[in-house]
Amino acid sequence: MRGCLNDTWQTQEWKEKAAEFIKGKNCEWCGSTENLVPHHPKRKGGYTHSEYVSLDGCFVLCTKCNFMEDLGFRICPNCKKHYYKPKRGKESLCWECFAKTPFGQKVKEYYEKHPGERKRNRRIKH
Ligand SMILES: [Zn+2]
Ligand SMILES: [Zn+2]
Repeated sequence: MRGCLNDTWQTQEWKEKAAEFIKGKNCEWCGSTENLVPHHPKRKGGYTHSEYVSLDGCFVLCTKCNFMEDLGFRICPNCKKHYYKPKRGKESLCWECFAKTPFGQKVKEYYEKHPGERKRNRRIKH
């Protein structure tokens, strides 16, 4: 069955391929060298066992980045420390880095002067 890989993860074949794949690599996102896993890009219909173990299109992430990716977050390309949720698939910065840009400064100042404005805007927009 597609998308059901519980058995795949138990196989020796997978464990060896995964170990080989992450050997000597760092997390593509944060650069961590610990708790690495091969990350499979999301695919419609999921993976069959053989597609999964072929590691086609995979890249290395640490378990933390892998978890955040699953939740739809991306790592900030500037600090590689914080995560953000992309809007319409656009690459962006985390709030901390965004607030340091000239435009971000203005936005930050605005929100500091108008606390609660962010919430109200959201409600009007639907
Ligand atoms: Zn990472
Ligand atoms: Zn950042």
